[in-house]
Amino acid sequence: MTPLLTDTLCTNCGLCCDGTLFADVELVGQAEVARLEIMGLEIENEDRNIGLLSQPCAALRGTRCGIYAHRPKCCRVFQCHLLQNAQRGAVTVERAMEQIADAREQIRQVRAMLGRLGNRDEGLPIKERCMETLAAEGGTTSETIKDRADLEAAMATLENTIWNTFLGSGQRRE
Ligand code: SF4
Ligand code: SF4
Repeated sequence: MTPLLTDTLCTNCGLCCDGTLFADVELVGQAEVARLEIMGLEIENEDRNIGLLSQPCAALRGTRCGIYAHRPKCCRVFQCHLLQNAQRGAVTVERAMEQIADAREQIRQVRAMLGRLGNRDEGLPIKERCMETLAAEGGTTSETIKDRADLEAAMATLENTIWNTFLGSGQRRE
């Protein structure tokens, strides 16, 4: 991976850490689980050898990893579709930065809509928050009905961005 590109793109992005692209990070092996627990991160253990680090990741500081030198293996090897495209010159760095900024603006709007509808739980992945809010019984005022419809549309737009720009053809963080 070209350090310059990750420095330019990833440090201004963080979407693979903040609960936008993924709901968790899979940790493999007790040593990795133990290392992160020592750093104060809460790990959900599925079995002896696999742990899950929930997202939004508690190690994220703004758009940067706060434990960069000690981040788990699957964080080290993950490269989203946009980063790969920028690396092979299929998209310019300037265009990639614009796409990150567009996605972050879409997220800002979805979060604002969630807030208006009473969901302020920033500790959950954004898609989960939207699903929770839309599944809950909504108010019957025309304003609330419109807010819910707007949220549904904004989440669908964000979902398209996530898949088309960042995940490509079904990329997973493994
Ligand atoms: S989503 Fe892509 S560009 Fe953004 S931080 Fe992750 S790997 Fe980097
Ligand atoms: S450990 Fe670092 S790189 Fe991995 S999800 Fe958390 S903030 Fe992102």
